Parts: sequence; C-alpha cells; structure tokens
Amino acid sequence: MTIPMPAALALCFVFGACIGSFLNVCIYRIPRNLSIVSPGSACPACKKRLPYYTNIPVISFLVLRGRCRFCGCPVSLQYPLVECLTGIVAVITCLAFGLTLEALVWFAFAATLIVVSGIDLAFWIIPDRISLPGIAVFGFLAWAVLDRSPAAIGLGILAGGGILYAVALVYYLIRRTDGMGGGDIKLLAMIGAATGVPGVVFTLFAGSVLGTGVGIAQMIRRRHTDRQMQIPFGPYLSAGALIYVFYGGPLIDWYFFRAFS
Ligand SMILES: [Zn+2]
Repeated sequence: MTIPMPAALALCFVFGACIGSFLNVCIYRIPRNLSIVSPGSACPACKKRLPYYTNIPVISFLVLRGRCRFCGCPVSLQYPLVECLTGIVAVITCLAFGLTLEALVWFAFAATLIVVSGIDLAFWIIPDRISLPGIAVFGFLAWAVLDRSPAAIGLGILAGGGILYAVALVYYLIRRTDGMGGGDIKLLAMIGAATGVPGVVFTLFAGSVLGTGVGIAQMIRRRHTDRQMQIPFGPYLSAGALIYVFYGGPLIDWYFFRAFS
C-alpha cells in the first residue's frame, strides 16, 4: 500500500465531513420515522429551509457561531462534532486501507455505527430500521468484497446475537427485569456480520472496558450509588468494533505479547 499524500487525506476529511452532515440528518430523522431524503434540511426551531451555503460542514457552524441564520436559535454541538468525527474516520480508513473497495466497506460500516451511536445517546434505542438491514448488507459485503466465507459470516452473526441474547436471558432470570436492550443484541449481530467471531469477542471486551470506565467516571462525578444506573451500550459497542477494524491486529498482538512472554 502506498502512503497517501497529505492532499489526499485532506480530501478524505472533506468527503467524510460531508457524509457526516448526512449522518446528522439520519440521526435526527430515523428515530422520528421521517424520510432521510426529502425534504431538504430545515431548522428544527423555526422550520425555515436551510440554503446550501449554510450547510457547509463544520464551517457553517463556526461562521454562524452555532446559531440558526434566521431565528438565532442555538444549533446543537452534535452537528459539527459528528461532521468532524466522520471526517477523521474517513482519514483513518484511508490510512488503514488505502483508496480501495475494502476501505469503502469499512467507511460505510463506521458511518452506520456513528448513526446508531448518535441515536442511542439521544433516544436510548437502536432502530431495527438500521440493525436488521445492516446484518444483511454487511454480511453480503463481507462475502462479496472482504472474501469472507458464508460460514464465517453466519457464525459471526450467531455469535454476536447469541452472546448478548444469553446475557440478557441470564440477567432476566436473576433479576426479573430487562437489563440488556434488544437493540444491542441486533447491533452486535450486525457487527458480527462484518467482523466475524474474532471481531465480536474483541468488540464485547473493548466495549465493556470502555463502558465500565465511563460508567465509573460518571458515578464518581455525580456521586451515583445506584448500581442499576443504565448507560446506553450502543456507542461503546460501536467504538469497540471500530477499534477492532482499524487497530485490532496490532492490539491483539501486543496483548498476547505482553501476556505470554
Ligand atoms: Zn431557525
């Protein structure tokens, strides 16, 4: 693989930020059951349509100082954050996989996880509208582009869905309340379709470590003692899956090198 030029990486960032702008639309509209293609973007407060020149990723937010051009209502910081994050993910994808079809698959995977995380953080749900087609689409792409065998893909889906389903069942049997959302089960099945059984194991491990770390930090900060305090698991599973896709190989090597030498 040739190292991409800085100019190519800058283009990747701009491309990613533009896609991020669309992901913001998805995060706002999918949980509200609105179409993601029409009508064009509008201010949620004054409902005025936003002309294209106020829709430039990140820059519009900075120029307008985070306010709607028409009514002056504050615009959520989510917009520039998702745009920047998607731009950075595009650069990381390009660095890891070059300008290849494989890179496009992983970028689409990352974009899907960004939408899932945004919705889970805001609404505490992971819509079936994303995870169920996601299982089929990423399963197909893993076979067609990533050269994975149908058996490996099927096992990944079963492992992802099965592990969290078992956890949810055990939790229910012990405490008689639902601890794990059904959305998380289908999300990990989708992650399994794309990354296989090793990806599922890594994602669960990394996601639990990240989730526990942030959970403990929040408990200390808010002096929460309620051990049943729930945190949305989707963003942590998503982060774990992306760490696996981009850095999984080296991290696993490092872990086993440290553990067994
Ligand atoms: Zn407005």
